[in-house]
Amino acid sequence: MNPKPDTAAVTAGRPPQLVGKPVVTPVHREVTHEFASAAEFAAVMEDASRGYLYSRIRSPNTDELAAAVAALENAEAAHCFASGMAAISAGLELLAPAGVRVIAARQLYGQTYSLLRARGDTAFVDATDTEAVRAALHGAGLLYVETIANPQLTVPDLPAVIAAAHAAGARVMVDNTIATPIGCRPLEHGADLVVHSATKFLNGHADVLAGVAAGSAELIALLAERALDTGATLGPDAAWLVRRGLKTLHLRIERSAANAGRIAAYLDGHPRVTVARYPGLAGDVSHAVAGRLLNSPGGLVVFDVGGERAGAFAVMDACRLCVRATSLGGVETSISHPASTSHRQLSADELEAASLSEGTLRLSVGIEHVDDLLADLAAALA
Ligand code: PLP
Repeated sequence: MNPKPDTAAVTAGRPPQLVGKPVVTPVHREVTHEFASAAEFAAVMEDASRGYLYSRIRSPNTDELAAAVAALENAEAAHCFASGMAAISAGLELLAPAGVRVIAARQLYGQTYSLLRARGDTAFVDATDTEAVRAALHGAGLLYVETIANPQLTVPDLPAVIAAAHAAGARVMVDNTIATPIGCRPLEHGADLVVHSATKFLNGHADVLAGVAAGSAELIALLAERALDTGATLGPDAAWLVRRGLKTLHLRIERSAANAGRIAAYLDGHPRVTVARYPGLAGDVSHAVAGRLLNSPGGLVVFDVGGERAGAFAVMDACRLCVRATSLGGVETSISHPASTSHRQLSADELEAASLSEGTLRLSVGIEHVDDLLADLAAALA
């Protein structure tokens, strides 16, 4: 029977089942799947047969990305979210619902800091001071830290603070965005949940917004259920891009960290720089812990040119190769001013407590030739 044009417009041209399969998973833009029978449909709905129903639940692309991140983080399971903040809020709602006291690092990404501050029952401590963390944990249900803090680049003694939290009956959530699983796998040190802004190094190309949480199958199943309610689902195109980016994560981190090490050493000796921070620098406050904990000190470098905002802006404006942009973890080197961008939510006192100033600049070091980057910074600081 020849369908009428209205019907053909909807149904014609569907491909037959083929022998062989693509080497790379295609982008699965379909929202819904068709079944041969009502019984098959019901079996997939009940999880009795493996299949896909509706892309707010799961899609082949988010499943592939989740499985890849779980493998990299050595986790039982992972779940993808529409952004890093969506993964963080979902994790916080699950592990610290209203009424549960949170102890959080003072050294955190600005949006996470303001999210935790808004709860009203969060106490912020210097996460590099294990005794201060231990002392604060009494009565807390959750400890929240970043493996390498953005942008202080401090590294908490993860095994020690995790053990202290567990001894106090608290669970531990770790944002592993800056360290990446190439640098550290917090679950292996006992963390309960790891979260990522996959927008950053996991994807690596500044062209997608995404988040992932990884942990036990039990916790991830609960998170997935909540994501179904809130709809903070990652779309298939974004999942596909992050999965592709992940393939070169180790190579990009290796190159970024090698470049960052050279740049940090240069800045550390520069007369205009009052402080250079990089966990790989011998004199850095976190060098010893980083040496024990991290397989790579990562691709971020922070430096302070002292003085007012105008001095830091002048350095940024003089850069020709480093791009003036927020975010981080892309293949291009970017420079930003945390006090006016990622940490603008902090008051002057909070900035000081977080070891940031109007003269602080953050570099996310990319994979360009290091000589070109050093020349750009030398000219900007001249
Ligand atoms: N965590 C860290 C350490 C970040 O740097 C960021 C963003 O800069 C986020 C979380 C939030 O991620 P997203 O922008 O993907 O929501």
